[in-house]
Amino acid sequence: PYRGSWSSESSDSVISIDSGNNLYRVVLMGETGVGKSTLASIFAGVQDNLENCDILGEDTYERTVTVDGESATLIVMDTWENKDEDNWIQDHCMQIGDAYLIVYSITDRASFEKASELRIQLRRRRQAEDIPIILVGNKSDLVRCREVSVAEGRACAVVFDCKFIETSAAVQHNVQELFEGIVRQVRLRRDSKEV
Ligand code: GDP
Ligand code: MG
Repeated sequence: PYRGSWSSESSDSVISIDSGNNLYRVVLMGETGVGKSTLASIFAGVQDNLENCDILGEDTYERTVTVDGESATLIVMDTWENKDEDNWIQDHCMQIGDAYLIVYSITDRASFEKASELRIQLRRRRQAEDIPIILVGNKSDLVRCREVSVAEGRACAVVFDCKFIETSAAVQHNVQELFEGIVRQVRLRRDSKEV
């Protein structure tokens, strides 16, 4: 795609906080216990004490990553479970994300069904928008407790028109790929608007 300095046409739809500085808000959603916070803390490099990560709040992390030679700053929000009385927070989360990770556990079919529900809710809230979403089947290390097959996860993602990946936060499998994937999904949409 051509990126001329004169192209300012697309700047009137200020839904995203990104204004050319590659800053993307990524919201984690999913049932309690599926591994959202563990995934977020791996992203944030909590274990490795990374210097390039800022912990913005108790459950919001900012980190700049390089994907395909281009840097992007992700603000990862693990705020989904901060329950309040009138669901204001969840409502807000549905509005502000530039991208979403809908997480379920492959060992918990109910969490998989919940993921579908969330996908439908999100679609309803952001109707006209083509928001990047990845359906994430976490806990892939727990092979003996598997209740949702890879094929089911993949089929669900096809129906819901989003990407799919299985991860294991416990053994850190595919976690980096997950966050790289969401950056690529955001860029694909950005680049297709810039012709
Ligand atoms: P959240 O409620 O979605 O934030 O889930 P947590 O990140 O708090 O994880 C819930 C529990 O599942 C914790 O005991 C984690 O250690 C565990 N857990 C998270 N991810 C994995 C994983 O990939 N594999 C396994 N075996 N356990 C996990
Ligand atoms: Mg949590």
